[in-house]
Amino acid sequence: MRLEDRIRDIQDFPQKGVLFKDITPLLQDGATFRAAMERMAAHYTGSGIQTVVGVESRGFIFGAPLAYLLNCGFVPVRKFGKLPAPTESVEYALEYGTNVVEIHKDAVKPGERVLIVDDLLATGGTVSASIELVERLGGHIAGVAFLVELTFLKGREKLKGHDVFALIKY
Ligand code: IMP
Repeated sequence: MRLEDRIRDIQDFPQKGVLFKDITPLLQDGATFRAAMERMAAHYTGSGIQTVVGVESRGFIFGAPLAYLLNCGFVPVRKFGKLPAPTESVEYALEYGTNVVEIHKDAVKPGERVLIVDDLLATGGTVSASIELVERLGGHIAGVAFLVELTFLKGREKLKGHDVFALIKY
């Protein structure tokens, strides 16, 4: 089964000139969604991942089933103001303006082996902020996983030194 066949291109979204990769057809097809999750989990089986960190919001969709399949816990990285207990926060640059993401201070223990998950790697800014949050808590980034990587945006270079894995590359 080709996962790519369930990703569709949307021209000029969210703004003119952008070709958006829409993953919702893949989610909609039960067999393909399951195959994607099982392939991702197979890549990390035996690698000693203790916690999966998912990046709001599409990182939750892939992160939670992955944590389930790897038999480990799930931790959300959320947008500013959403987490109820004390947090660590990081501000990062967007194309226009900035964004703040947060993690609960007690969500990751020092030395814990963490896998960070998001739906798609573009420039790498979003995931870099999550890496910084986990490292501030003393966690060890054992891997960074995506459903899709847009290789031409060279996000991988921003994640140098980390083990980056993507199921689908464009
Ligand atoms: P980055 O920070 O530039 O790597 O952008 C990645 C973030 O933007 C991820 O959280 C994605 O959900 C989102 N994103 C950027 N481009 C696309 C796209 O073409 N399809 C789906 N999500 C995208």
